[in-house]
Amino acid sequence: MIANSAGHLLSIDIAYFIATCLFVVGLRRMSSPTKARSSIWIAGVGMAIAIIATLTIAGDPGRRVLIPIAMFLGAGFAFVQSRRVSMTDAPALIALYNGLGGGAAAGIAFVELLRASEHSSSLRFFAVVGALAGSVAFAGSLMAWRKLRSDIRRSIPFPNRQVVYLAIMTLLLLVGLILAYSNSAHPVLLLLFVLLALFFGISMTLPIAAADLPVLISLYNALTGLAVGFEGFVLGNPAMMVAGTLVFAAGTLLTQLMARAVNRRLSEIMYSGFGVGDDDKPMVGTRDGFVNEVEAHDAAASMAFANRVIVVPGYGMAIAQAQHKLRELTQLLDERGVQTAFAIHPVAGRMPGHMNVLLADAGVPYEKIADLSAINEEFSHADVALVIGANDTVNPSARTDEKSPLFGMPVLNVDQAGSVIVLKRAKGRGYANVANPLFEEPGTRVLLGDAKDSLQELITSIKALD
Ligand code: NDP
Repeated sequence: MIANSAGHLLSIDIAYFIATCLFVVGLRRMSSPTKARSSIWIAGVGMAIAIIATLTIAGDPGRRVLIPIAMFLGAGFAFVQSRRVSMTDAPALIALYNGLGGGAAAGIAFVELLRASEHSSSLRFFAVVGALAGSVAFAGSLMAWRKLRSDIRRSIPFPNRQVVYLAIMTLLLLVGLILAYSNSAHPVLLLLFVLLALFFGISMTLPIAAADLPVLISLYNALTGLAVGFEGFVLGNPAMMVAGTLVFAAGTLLTQLMARAVNRRLSEIMYSGFGVGDDDKPMVGTRDGFVNEVEAHDAAASMAFANRVIVVPGYGMAIAQAQHKLRELTQLLDERGVQTAFAIHPVAGRMPGHMNVLLADAGVPYEKIADLSAINEEFSHADVALVIGANDTVNPSARTDEKSPLFGMPVLNVDQAGSVIVLKRAKGRGYANVANPLFEEPGTRVLLGDAKDSLQELITSIKALD
């Protein structure tokens, strides 16, 4: 009997070890967009193994029934939602699921802290940290979800923010210490602690907008990982410890990368917030929305007879699902001897790596894609910069206008190319709702229309040149 249960525990440990290896391999491979799809499966198999192993040690028969039911409902809902969601709403859905991960970890912490006497003070401390991180990630991610869906478009600053933050953090610290170092449960204090943490997550996200939002989303990703990791310690579950730590580490690195990409410190983002946008100004710059429109055949000729064309995709390309047409266009240009390259801004689109994933999906060769730091100097040697549904990431006012909410964020230097061709539907603004003088510059010509249709027109016009 003893040998049997020792053998069972050993097989559980082996299962967790295999799951851990699959998580690490999956994460490692995800650094290449071409391997991302299979890497998700690898990590998913790891998670399935970890879940099955955990189910076999769920002693209480009631739990063995309840856990599969909960999983079935959750997985079923997610499956249906994910199949229905359009590619453009995928970033918002990912923010939502990240928040739910944090909320689940906070839920575990809540239950374990209600059983405070069964845990040591160090485990209670871990549970408190997990409850805090998970609740902040949950509330903050839900707000980010609404902002990504554009339900809330603007930064909503409130007076004396710094004082409010300091007061909440002090209260959280005090209540957290009582919960961690008291041997008995305090349901009312626990509820207060979670509510404060939720309020903190909401109040931290409300003032954030535009270029700063990706930084905060990455931070919530890291916090969810932290919460899951700590709750793994509380439950003694190695798979949760490892998965949580990996997500925490990856999320922290991503937060740093995103903050560097928008040239802001995290503390600056959290405490100074973001400008309120330009609602009262005309759509573009100073000439009341005037743009130089171009016909598709003229734009096509400019590119077909160029030596070098740099393509800058943005969120509009994702909306139009124009990546396949874009690959077709660049292939045509390549065949004519035009050198083409793709310039990707780190916050282009609505989630980190958004453009890379779409371009890889369309079969654009990886070596043609360069990030901002690698390609920005190249624009001055390019004949044409082709901007497809990008706006904030090519807004030159970020370099020059100290009053612009985007000021200081590095942008792609498309205005330094010989000429700029912009594909957009109308005279709409970018996510930050900031006027973009690029569209009025003499070297810029705008081809109005849905990006996919415009690309088709460009392809047809280039073919007609032969
Ligand atoms: P923007 O959101 O700034 O601009 C998108 C442009 O696409 C708009 O000007 C719009 O103009 C145009 N557009 C929309 N639909 C179409 C269509 N069907 N065909 C052609 N054009 C279209 O995009 P960027 O990628 O330049 O910038 C991303 C912004 O999102 C940044 O401010 C970033 O901070 C923010 N963000 C990024 C996140 C990330 O992780 N990457 C997360 C959260 C926010 P029009 O309506 O006239 O067509």
